[in-house]
Amino acid sequence: RSALRFSTAAVAEEPITPPVQIDHTQLLINGEFVDSASGKTFPTYDPRTGEVIAQVAEGHAEDINRAVSAARKAFDEGPWPKMTAYERSRILLRFADLVEKHSNEIAALETWNNGKPYEQAAMAELPMLVRLFHYYAGWADKIHGLTCPADGPYHVQTLHEPIGVAGQIIPWNFPLLMFAWKVGPALACGNTIVLKTAEQTPLTALYVAKLFHEAGLPPGVLNIVSGFGPTAGAALASHMDVDKLAFTGSTDTGKIVLELAAKSNLKPVTLELGGKSPFIICEDADIDNAVELAHFALFFNQGQCCCAGSRTFVHERIYDEFLEKAKARAMKRVVGDPFKKGVEQGPQIDSEQFEKVLRYIRSGIESNATLECGGGRLGSKGFYIQPTVFSNVQDDMLIAQDEIFGPVQSILKFNDIGDVIKRANATRYGLAAGVFTSNLDTANTISRALKAGTVWVNCFDVFDAAIPFGGYKMSGIGREKGIYSLNNYLQVKAVVTPLKNPAWL
Ligand code: NAD
Repeated sequence: RSALRFSTAAVAEEPITPPVQIDHTQLLINGEFVDSASGKTFPTYDPRTGEVIAQVAEGHAEDINRAVSAARKAFDEGPWPKMTAYERSRILLRFADLVEKHSNEIAALETWNNGKPYEQAAMAELPMLVRLFHYYAGWADKIHGLTCPADGPYHVQTLHEPIGVAGQIIPWNFPLLMFAWKVGPALACGNTIVLKTAEQTPLTALYVAKLFHEAGLPPGVLNIVSGFGPTAGAALASHMDVDKLAFTGSTDTGKIVLELAAKSNLKPVTLELGGKSPFIICEDADIDNAVELAHFALFFNQGQCCCAGSRTFVHERIYDEFLEKAKARAMKRVVGDPFKKGVEQGPQIDSEQFEKVLRYIRSGIESNATLECGGGRLGSKGFYIQPTVFSNVQDDMLIAQDEIFGPVQSILKFNDIGDVIKRANATRYGLAAGVFTSNLDTANTISRALKAGTVWVNCFDVFDAAIPFGGYKMSGIGREKGIYSLNNYLQVKAVVTPLKNPAWL
């Protein structure tokens, strides 16, 4: 019965055949596609049906060793850090052009392996991928040190050098954008890379890495190892010859990789982790706009966003009207085959996440939050979940504390700005936040008081290449994107030379 409340025709139909082929399933090491040392493979799935779409080479520690050796050689002996920055920049630009040329197939592969709406992948994420590489190509030849004053006759200069071999571990929710956030700045700064993709979504990174080589990237500069976290991921994080580690994923895994890095060679680590971001709707907000934005903030990408606005705080004076409209909006959400035009929400990534989200929904019901709509599975195959809205959510409920990572909106009531700031900050996370108000002073008060790496005022999920992103507290360490991301991939060397009879100091 509940399935009829959503536009779900496509779920029941035969899935649309994706307009792309899977060409690359092996590991990419030293510029070549190769089998894993063990010869093992693992299945990767179509979240629309749960069916296997390809077998992919499964990397283990030995493959990480091979990839790190190739990256080491490309860094120490190879042309990459020795190339002029302008030449590196041109390769990044040529890569961006090739991505643009193939963007329809790449978007289709992303949708097929991840389940996100094709229109979202093709019209928002692929252009962003291209934009990010244009942005980092622009940085490549603008990275340089300073001359510094000294208290004596010395010439002091700083050199901004690449760190060396970067190990990068990414999640499945935005496979290509996470690739770009990691690979773009590392290459612009002259590093070489071993990247481990998420086991759920190995395909698009292999596709675009092939394009990188067509664009002229020398072998060994970018190596891609598909595989699982505790095997391939842990081997990368603890590798003695990896000079820097960048990780995006859950807070629990972030702690593990930080420990592995510390116990091996003390490589510096940047972490982009989970969140439970508040979105505060003030009493002076335009309710229709606030409803739409809060809906987008939570449901975008099937709710699988680290920065999802997953605690919607609404002022008591507008609460009832907001709630009715938020529920109506969720019930109108178009869920179905992500290849179908107009679909807003596809399936969750896999059975594990699907079950986890349904468990949280049950926990919300058991803890006496009010289930306004949704709450169950859609269709009989694949991992579709009804857009779900809870009201009367209290701060101490699990659904208000944990990262659900699914299409479940929790609506909480507040009556005082000072109080809602405290409640918004009362979480172990601090990734992002939103505030919706027509009063500039309220916007400034709230945005300065929130402990979050990003605060969106009257907007949400604005992700330009130059805007830094990262977390306070247990949402991470460091910032990606923008000028801030470059520091993650550079060493600063001070070179001090005595001056004989200088004319000035
Ligand atoms: P996850 O932590 O399980 O996996 C992320 C990556 O870590 C995968 O590549 C996985 O194989 C690897 N991994 C797992 N165990 C490992 C280990 N022991 N050693 C080394 N690597 C290991 O997270 P997930 O469920 O795939 O992704 C969802 C999480 O990622 C959410 O919590 C979300 O908030 C977070 N995320 C954060 C951001 C951000 O920028 N802050 C962006 C996207 C996702």
